Amino acid sequence: MATGLEKLWQSTLAELELQISRPNFITWFKNSQLLEKKTDGQVVIGLFSNFAKEWVENKYHKLLLDILFSLDNSIKKIEYTVINRPGPVLIKQPKRITDLSADNGFEEFKIDPESNLHPRYTFNSFVVGSSNELAYAASQAVIKVIGRKYNPLFVYGGTGLGKTHLIQAIGNEIKNVYKNKCKTKYVSSEKFVNDVVFFIRNKRMEDMKIKYRNIDVLIIDDIQFIGGKERSEEELFHTFNALYENNKQIIISSDRAPSALPVLEERLRSRFEGGMIADITYPDYEMRLAIIKNKLQERRSYLSDEVCSLVATKVQRNIRELEGVLNKVVFYQDVKGVDLTTKIVEEIIDNTLQEKSSNVSSGKIIKAVADFYEMSPKELTERSRKKNIVEPRQIAMFLMRDILDMSYPNIGEKLGKRDHTTAIYAYEKISQEITKKQSFNQKITNIKDLIYKSG
Ligand code: ADP
Ligand code: MG
Repeated sequence: MATGLEKLWQSTLAELELQISRPNFITWFKNSQLLEKKTDGQVVIGLFSNFAKEWVENKYHKLLLDILFSLDNSIKKIEYTVINRPGPVLIKQPKRITDLSADNGFEEFKIDPESNLHPRYTFNSFVVGSSNELAYAASQAVIKVIGRKYNPLFVYGGTGLGKTHLIQAIGNEIKNVYKNKCKTKYVSSEKFVNDVVFFIRNKRMEDMKIKYRNIDVLIIDDIQFIGGKERSEEELFHTFNALYENNKQIIISSDRAPSALPVLEERLRSRFEGGMIADITYPDYEMRLAIIKNKLQERRSYLSDEVCSLVATKVQRNIRELEGVLNKVVFYQDVKGVDLTTKIVEEIIDNTLQEKSSNVSSGKIIKAVADFYEMSPKELTERSRKKNIVEPRQIAMFLMRDILDMSYPNIGEKLGKRDHTTAIYAYEKISQEITKKQSFNQKITNIKDLIYKSG
């Protein structure tokens, strides 16, 4: 009997796969089962989470019933139930030529000046699990029918949980699929505000319109920063309407739900609430483990199962932190040649997590870096192209991101009014150096000591 059910389910899935997109198929139906066929024509489908159950019931019920009926016309009804979840699904897509993944050198990771998108953020490297499956599925729907289905798409969640990665991956995927037929632009809220200020100051608001309304997909990151900045809100409202009315897609991220954005103008809030709102929550253990495995694979490193499991167990707060710890652990093993014991790994984790919660400010970081290089904080923060400033400035930028999770535009602003792309570049460059060079890692450790000692 079981094999009959299995066969029927395999045929159903084969048909279903033709009718829905592959990522959706994998997200919702991987590890699904046909559990039972009752005599009254009812079948029971098992899905791996409550969430998947609801989603499939709402979105795919009719399709499933049609397919099942076409295969066995005694089937009249479907019941859905939750089976033990098998762990997160890692979506692996074929590599594309434009996908600059880990095989390429760091230098090739360039932000595309047209779209502002960073090629590192792709769906290839995005692990889908219970904490982000709704946001992921909504993203796929947006890519399929741009501007018409979920508009705006509003993604929210705490820091380091993958909002920027996801919304940039949407942009990159749209670029891949639609090539230059679809003009896509990613912008941080700070950049948007800066533009508003700049164009007002220069009496060029018409140019602002040209810049932001002549777009097919507008992606705005960290919208919470716009709240309370009246002129920017107003401009955003008009931009939003202009795009929306023309069926252009708008994608927004925020650290909280629209209803919880305190200073947002009501009319803007209700616009946001008119689309699809999806949250990203904390990854569970299985998902953290999947992310670790994924990152290791990306950088072609290997850690024992015990070490992976220990890191996944202990680092729970967010994915950026998880990456930070992982980098350090890999560094100890691959570069320093340390034999990783449970004790050593726990120490690395404790040190990293402790750093995050201590009393550090951007001022302290600037002071410590300046002290280390024997220069004044002013020298470090002024707008200068002097050669001897480059490395300390990059390190200060790196530390502001690493320890304080500051946004890139904010970091750029603090260090010589530099563009956010400079800050991103600095962060990535230093992250790479640390994992490659022992001497460099030591330098960072010494600077961190200075920061924490400064009380
Ligand atoms: P947020 O914008 O929510 O603060 P980010 O998108 O910057 O978070 O993510 C923080 C880090 O974690 C990034 O390096 C990102 O690539 C990684 N990350 C986040 N979510 C995932 C995921 N689901 N799979 C793989 N990596 C992820
Ligand atoms: Mg972000």
